[in-house]
Amino acid sequence: LRRNPGEDEFHQAVREVFSSLGPVLEKHPEYADAAVLQRLCEPERQIIFRVPWHDDRGTMQINRGFRVEFNSALGPYKGGLRFHPSVYLGIVKFLGFEQIFKNALTGMPIGGAKGGSDFDPRGRSDGEVMRFCQSFMTELYRYLGEYTDVPAGDIGVGSREIGYLFGQYKRITNRYESGVLTGKGLTWGGSRVRTEATGYGTVLFTQEMLRTRGQDLEGRRAVVSGSGNVAIYAIAKLQQLGATVVACSDSDGYVVEEGGIDLEALREVKEVRRGRLSDYAQGRDATYSTNGSIWDVPCEIALPCATQNELGVDHARTLVGSGVLAVAEGANMPCTPDAVRVLTEAGVLFGPGKAANAGGVATSALEMQQNASRDSWTFEHAEERLTEIMVGVHQRCAETAEEYGEPGNYALGANVAGFKRVADAMMALGTI
Ligand code: NDP
Repeated sequence: LRRNPGEDEFHQAVREVFSSLGPVLEKHPEYADAAVLQRLCEPERQIIFRVPWHDDRGTMQINRGFRVEFNSALGPYKGGLRFHPSVYLGIVKFLGFEQIFKNALTGMPIGGAKGGSDFDPRGRSDGEVMRFCQSFMTELYRYLGEYTDVPAGDIGVGSREIGYLFGQYKRITNRYESGVLTGKGLTWGGSRVRTEATGYGTVLFTQEMLRTRGQDLEGRRAVVSGSGNVAIYAIAKLQQLGATVVACSDSDGYVVEEGGIDLEALREVKEVRRGRLSDYAQGRDATYSTNGSIWDVPCEIALPCATQNELGVDHARTLVGSGVLAVAEGANMPCTPDAVRVLTEAGVLFGPGKAANAGGVATSALEMQQNASRDSWTFEHAEERLTEIMVGVHQRCAETAEEYGEPGNYALGANVAGFKRVADAMMALGTI
């Protein structure tokens, strides 16, 4: 803590993982002897840089860019870029730290990293976003490479931003190195199902959890927070599997629509018009609120898919009171530690983000595979692979929780299984 002052989210993420590891260290004292925990907390490399760019009025703007290359024991650094005004080192480090264990849990050969900037894309023109991305990449490119570090999207970074970043990388290096970024468009090296993968994967994980109790999603009432990439495709998969999604949100408010959210209308507003949820609600049989919380809306399935610490202890109590069966984290660390405790003590199935939202990065690794073999898979094939991976992630968490005497504790299962895979690799590689 003294070494990383003021990085609250990073401290929260480290505490959460380390609180699960006592029994593993007892069973395997060799990890403690090799100082694996101390090494895991210290990123291999942290890059912080100035991003100067001109806005549409010709005024110079300065933002701060970050890339934290946390751990490469299992493969090249892999993790998204976040563009949001709240981004600072503590956020990037929490996300990078989580990413190490999530990536390990997928069973794929990828290390952990995260990056981004305090740039706010909201209200910026396409030209401004492009100039920002070009300036960002002009500094970052020297640290990237398909065998070194492979960024992707996150909050505020979708295929438009990945396009501008990739274009600038290609221009500077004179290399069409498709595998250097994932989340690319389909005509220039992207993978089918990458856009859908995180949301789809979160729902597939939820379905696997329900199956352990002989339940499924058919006819269930669901609430999904956020209305960005993860939320939209979580809603899509929930609807495919027979659930009714009655509410979603953005950072200004939330919509409740008892008949079910209209996915195509939502996609038109968010993906095509880049509008707000209040625009979606207009003229519909829906209520748009800026008071209270989306978690006040009663539901059986709750998927927080917006941002960190969005679901607190009071929200958790309300959800338990309304009879929630399962909560799975589409976002990274959306539930506070107290909220997780309330949910699990009440017997609610809880899927931690490291496991539940791992479908995004896993499909990014599938995109890297396709780029390396200059291949392009069908939607069906890519989705089949994603499903296999999510079933595997669920099984690894469930078996590990059982092995450590806490069946059904997915948070413990995810932390221990992810930790063991990366710790074994670090031990094998010597002093790294
Ligand atoms: P997007 O930028 O596409 O969407 C983010 C959504 O969350 C928007 O609806 C946004 O509302 C809302 N949101 C953001 N910040 C806040 C806030 N402070 N309070 C309330 N709502 C907020 O991002 P993604 O969908 O890609 O990411 C969502 C979450 O999922 C993040 O935690 C991310 O780390 C995680 N994740 C994403 C993956 C991916 O593949 N994209 C992979 C794994 C995890 P508004 O438009 O008003 O800002």
